[in-house]
Amino acid sequence: MKYETVIGLEVHLQLATRTKAFCGCSTKFGQKPNSQTCPVCLGFPGSLPVLNEDAFRFALKVALALNCKIQKIIKFDRKNYYYPDLPKNFQISQYDMPLAYDGVVRIIAEGAGKDIRLSAYIWKKTRESSCIRKERITALSITTEAACRFLR
Ligand SMILES: [Zn+2]
Repeated sequence: MKYETVIGLEVHLQLATRTKAFCGCSTKFGQKPNSQTCPVCLGFPGSLPVLNEDAFRFALKVALALNCKIQKIIKFDRKNYYYPDLPKNFQISQYDMPLAYDGVVRIIAEGAGKDIRLSAYIWKKTRESSCIRKERITALSITTEAACRFLR
């Protein structure tokens, strides 16, 4: 039986925002444990997350640079799971409707060019793992279709 390697990539970018992805708490690194939190990032009942405007603008710049189409309506999803550094039991991300889609980058491999289609999703990523204060930095996930057949 002969197999063909077909690869899709998921690349994570940290967006250089000064505040967390869905609240106004600072993302400054190296602060005292649990000092950069609020009801929103702790997931208290009744608290409502609001997307960081800088994160949105930065993500749009990346998406446009990658020739993506931008969704007319953007939505976020709760990914429910327990993790020791995430006691509120959910993460906010984009599940089935990326911020941007149908982007394309051209790669050259073995002397030939190929267009790789991609999408961009906003989500928040934990930067530390030692306490609850976690800097929930804004991350952009760029995913490609499984189309890289050049690699051996
Ligand atoms: Zn907060």
